[in-house]
Amino acid sequence: MSYKDFYEILGVPRNASQEEIKRAYRRLALKYHPDKNPGNKEAEEKFKEISEAYEVLSDPEKRAIYDTYGYAGLSSSGHRRFEDINDIFKTFSDIFEDFFGFTFEEKSHTRPRDGADLSYEVAVDLEDLFSEKEVTLDIEKLDLCDDCGGLGYNPEKGIKVCETCKGKGKVVYTEGFFRIAYACPDCRGKGSTYVEACKRCNGSGRAWKKKQIKVVIPAGVEDGTILRIYGEGEAGLYGGRPGDLYIRVKVKPHPLFYREKSNLIGILKVNFISAILGDEVEVPFFHEKLTVKVPPGSQPGDEIVIEGKGLPDPKTKKRGDFILKLQVELPNKVKEETKNLLYQIAEKENIDRSTNRLEPYQKQEKKKKESFWKRFIFGSK
Ligand SMILES: [Zn+2]
Ligand SMILES: [Zn+2]
Repeated sequence: MSYKDFYEILGVPRNASQEEIKRAYRRLALKYHPDKNPGNKEAEEKFKEISEAYEVLSDPEKRAIYDTYGYAGLSSSGHRRFEDINDIFKTFSDIFEDFFGFTFEEKSHTRPRDGADLSYEVAVDLEDLFSEKEVTLDIEKLDLCDDCGGLGYNPEKGIKVCETCKGKGKVVYTEGFFRIAYACPDCRGKGSTYVEACKRCNGSGRAWKKKQIKVVIPAGVEDGTILRIYGEGEAGLYGGRPGDLYIRVKVKPHPLFYREKSNLIGILKVNFISAILGDEVEVPFFHEKLTVKVPPGSQPGDEIVIEGKGLPDPKTKKRGDFILKLQVELPNKVKEETKNLLYQIAEKENIDRSTNRLEPYQKQEKKKKESFWKRFIFGSK
């Protein structure tokens, strides 16, 4: 067949619109449909012919080639005729669904399915956050089966063409005028089955596996940070992508320090003599000891800031500060002779006991702010 006039076959003018072409094909497809003409070879040939014409004319690119170079131009650009009626239904499945309610159903289990995401929690100590920390995580997940590499069958025995669907991947049921295609139940739509199922995974391609995963916890991360490790979730099914592994970092509370962003906060309790006269206090700080100078005249709530001793900022890597909030301890009971001494001190220092008063709340706030800015900066020993 060297010459074919697709316009003539469909009975449409050369300038027919897509809508006209579709309408013409619908009319002719109803007339020559194999279900309406069982065993009629001529009708089958006609059905193939109109389908080929429709395939070309409904595709603007193919139609342009056909209009310019004719049928010969088409065949040299890779166009081929429909040999099999089922190819027609496959190619135009959406059109036939439109025309006759023909449906092509694929069972959901044949579609590639992505593996599930997994989530784990890793608990770290506050001091682990000073630098990057590598943690080894023991996880158990559905991973690709080692024996078959995810194929689901014994690779040595290989695969064969499915006998149920003869390799087509689907089975077609005809009910009157409706043709319903199902994914072949034996090969799950693949057209092939294996000779022997993988004994380890029973054909699923996945198996439970224990796996050790090394996770790097970045320095200075906040409690509750979630790290995502791509592709380390469960393996996918039927060619689906593996899921991801999410790791929630839990920072265990420390008995001595708490954090505010990258600053570490501690409470330094000093007696009133040390607060008034100044002192040096040895403070345990993780694996070292810091000598902290309490300046003379320190007030309760003052902050002693040791710069650069806090946690690294996860982004800038710059370390925050270690801030000690001062608490001043006053004796709740003194000896008789101390009382006299204190009265003497009051007199010497012009401490007027009649100035005890209710302090305006706003003024208190202001004072607090001042003490925040009034930072005493000492390095560590
Ligand atoms: Zn099959
Ligand atoms: Zn297997």
